[in-house]
Amino acid sequence: PSKSAEINGSNCQSEGFAAPDPAVKVFVRIRPLNDPKREPSWAAAQVSPDSLSFGERKFMFDSVFSSNSNQEDVFQLVGVPLVKNALAGYNTTILSYGQTGSGKTYTMWGPPSAMVEDPSGSSLQGIAPRISQMIFSEIQREQKNLEGKQINYQCRCSFLEVYNEQIGDLLDQTQRNLEIPDDPKNGLYVENLTEEYVTSYEDATQILIKGLSSRKVGATGTNSKSSRSNIIFTFIIESWCKEASSKCFSSSKTSRISLVDLVGLDEDKLDGASRQHVREGKYAKKSLSKLGHVVKTLANGTLGGYGDVPYRSSCLTHLLRESLGGNCKLAVICTISPDNINDNQTLKTLRFGERVKSIRNKPVINEI
Ligand code: ADP
Repeated sequence: PSKSAEINGSNCQSEGFAAPDPAVKVFVRIRPLNDPKREPSWAAAQVSPDSLSFGERKFMFDSVFSSNSNQEDVFQLVGVPLVKNALAGYNTTILSYGQTGSGKTYTMWGPPSAMVEDPSGSSLQGIAPRISQMIFSEIQREQKNLEGKQINYQCRCSFLEVYNEQIGDLLDQTQRNLEIPDDPKNGLYVENLTEEYVTSYEDATQILIKGLSSRKVGATGTNSKSSRSNIIFTFIIESWCKEASSKCFSSSKTSRISLVDLVGLDEDKLDGASRQHVREGKYAKKSLSKLGHVVKTLANGTLGGYGDVPYRSSCLTHLLRESLGGNCKLAVICTISPDNINDNQTLKTLRFGERVKSIRNKPVINEI
């Protein structure tokens, strides 16, 4: 059973972990221009720290990262609060959404070379490696300030891919068509998905590198290594707490940080594409359209009553059931290009972000 943060005022973990902030936040990140000779579009030119104007249309967000922002800026505003919330016992999700080539992968993971211990490349690390680093350093810091308490932690990671409407295990490529059982007692989980125990940043990095190298990618007009699947990396944190003088653990918490990197929101440019590519493109488009439908239904629900939210219309929306409208703190990063040839996709991305902003999640501390 879960208890709300308010009821559980005497929570056993250090005060520093809990962060009072909105349950749903939406950020926009503008990628730098690939070709400095091109003119930036007018959309990207009218940017403030929390808004972006597109012609007459002004979009408000929690923060807008200009093309000069760096990976640390994004981590500080998006990643740090979510790690604090996860350590306090909340489920959290970060989801990247945008057109192919707009910087979803760069923002979420960063270049693989920056993940291994290479001090010269580490400033390029994306949110995922920074999150694992912060989790282990926060746990270590807390262990030094226990003040008569004992807290044991256990962390596990999983990494899955939704490709052509099938759930595959990125940590065990033999597992290609995993099921989400209908099991109201145990909540939402993917049957047989590998969960590896991690005790250090290095362990988590190995898992990230292994999973990312197994992701399906293919060439599109926009990007020579475009992602062909939706991927979800999950970091599970369990903790048990007791007074040092007591024999029994008095409370335990479990929370998840899920990092969701979606397929690109792309134009239909399938001329000359292989059959496999066309098939992948159709599934990718369908999964984003089902996601859009769920978001629209939830956003409309804040104005009137909630209708039936079509979570089961696709694997992706089923997996995101708690992240969208459920027991979770959510941050969405909409990545956009500053190039006016992409204005169509940019506008679609901003509209998606705007709808997400009106979703009301109901996060609670997951205490057992
Ligand atoms: P997506 O995952 O949305 O398809 P990528 O993250 O692969 O896009 O980005 C496409 C290219 O643009 C990559 O070469 C990436 O390194 C570069 N890029 C994206 N965002 C940024 C950024 N904020 N700063 C520097 N380079 C970026």
